Amino acid sequence: MRSGAIKNITIVTVNPTRDVVTDGGIIWEDGKIVYLGPSYKAEQLARTKNIEVEDGKGKILFPGMVNSHMHLFQNLLKGLGADLDLETWWPSTIKPAAVAYREEHVAAAATAGTLEAIRGGSTTLVDYMYAHPVKGLSQVSIEAVNKVGARLVYGRGFRNTGADHGFPVELIEKTADVFDEVLALKKRYHDKEDMVRFMVAPAAVWAVDAHGLQDTRDFASDAGVPITMHMLETETDNVICRERYGMKDAITFFEKTNLLGDDLLAVHVVAVGDRELKAFREHGVKVSHNPMANMYLASGVAPITDMLERNICVSLGTDGAASNNSTDMLETLKMTALLHKVNAQDPTAITGNKVLEMATIDGARSIGMDHLIGSIEEGKQADFFLFDPDACGKSSPCHSPVATLVYSSGQQSIVKVVIDGRTIINNGDFVELEERAVYEHQSEMARDLANRAGYPREFLERDWKSFVW
Ligand SMILES: [Zn+2]
Repeated sequence: MRSGAIKNITIVTVNPTRDVVTDGGIIWEDGKIVYLGPSYKAEQLARTKNIEVEDGKGKILFPGMVNSHMHLFQNLLKGLGADLDLETWWPSTIKPAAVAYREEHVAAAATAGTLEAIRGGSTTLVDYMYAHPVKGLSQVSIEAVNKVGARLVYGRGFRNTGADHGFPVELIEKTADVFDEVLALKKRYHDKEDMVRFMVAPAAVWAVDAHGLQDTRDFASDAGVPITMHMLETETDNVICRERYGMKDAITFFEKTNLLGDDLLAVHVVAVGDRELKAFREHGVKVSHNPMANMYLASGVAPITDMLERNICVSLGTDGAASNNSTDMLETLKMTALLHKVNAQDPTAITGNKVLEMATIDGARSIGMDHLIGSIEEGKQADFFLFDPDACGKSSPCHSPVATLVYSSGQQSIVKVVIDGRTIINNGDFVELEERAVYEHQSEMARDLANRAGYPREFLERDWKSFVW
């Protein structure tokens, strides 16, 4: 199967000439787009191929979005640790839970987080999984995403230092063990290479030492596994590199450990200036921009317009649900546009069209998959969603497909999602999963995890004493 056809639609291709096809049609076979063009021709061709044609009248087809940074395991932590900065939020909110995760929690979080992400139009997820208090959680997370049907880039997160700075020893691993696991997983999923790919994901400068980063670079270059890392989310990276490593700043540390390269996807990149951006540009480093998390933790405004002017590839991520409270890329589209307009006090500083590119083709470039996904073109994988503006009051009426998607979309308007040719959502519902049951199970697992984490009552109730469980 993994075939289908739709007629009478508007197609926002995000192809190299950014064509929008009105009164268009699409056919996909064995997971790949085989035809894109006038609706009547799609209908004729589909008939000769014995493929049933769906009428998409009034609907708009967009390329599936690439969420270039998320932590699916954090889906169980929504709503905890609000109103804190990064340096307070991590030890109070993430640390107690991170050591308490077991298979059932990761499975519930990854399943529900993937459902939520697909509901919001994402078809490829970069999951940066760094909570490994027990062995085997990588496998659990990958299987959960796989079962729901999203395309996955699994970033195997790790830390190899930090015990003397209060990090739990359960989360500190030997880099060699991490790399062995990545190689074993790569082998295991070899036959699903386009659906499950891998990255190595050193947590941050405070969690991986100089040897660890050098080893990461060597492993990445030898094994052809790209790297993703939280970088310069706040000024703390520079402070730590000075205090702990006697370096001038974090970028010097990254240069000395040879980490910078065109296979590196740097996440956040907020506390940067000319020197850092020059180095990123020179080495072809890609950036994952996570505006919701940057705003939630008040980390600052990443200089995205400056990066775009320098031709640095910038993609979009939600970050984990613990610092966003959602895995919904639709919110991130709108926030990206609004944040950089107001920051520059210039409504043209970033356009809706550019934001859509960042979420699609630039997202694909940021993970080295732009030859496969990120736009609607013949020969590419069939990863897309169908948007019905009138299915949701928020997105109706629609004068401009992109403006509607970026500024007034709701998840209810995403009525069909196809990934690798497989229909995951049809007529507004998941085809194979009962959504409510998944979320109810997630809530149960979230309560169980919070109990295991042993958050102090005063942390849970510190604002309004309104905790529901
Ligand atoms: Zn993150």
